[in-house]
Amino acid sequence: MDLSNIYTQMVLEESRNPKNRHDLEGATHEEPGHNPSCGDEITLQLKVKDGIIEDAAFSGQGCAISQASTSIMCDTIRGKSLEEGRELAQNFIGMINGSVTERKELKKLGDARAFESIKNLPARVKCAVLPWYTLEETVKDDK
Ligand SMILES: [Zn+2]
Repeated sequence: MDLSNIYTQMVLEESRNPKNRHDLEGATHEEPGHNPSCGDEITLQLKVKDGIIEDAAFSGQGCAISQASTSIMCDTIRGKSLEEGRELAQNFIGMINGSVTERKELKKLGDARAFESIKNLPARVKCAVLPWYTLEETVKDDK
């Protein structure tokens, strides 16, 4: 499997028309995220009920990688519990910094695994992890 090729296709597709970039009706959580080194800005919105992330969307602007990573993250966390969301964030960040390499853990990330090769592009790492750090910040006060 040529991961870098899939990565390129997915990023291009998502960045042209991110399907999760819209205002989220009934949002319970909202958190801005900013990556000054590239100029990426996002606002993440979640709709959480009974500890489950029922829906996720975002607004913002920035490079293709940040926008695509945010949109794919919204797909990845939808329907997951807050606990699972936090775990996924740690897995994603770990995948990029190389501390998480177990196949079992990486598999949970689904399509977000497409960003694994970004660790070879140090200048773009912050773009890819921006939504995941923002997610951690968004839910930090929830039990
Ligand atoms: Zn960027």
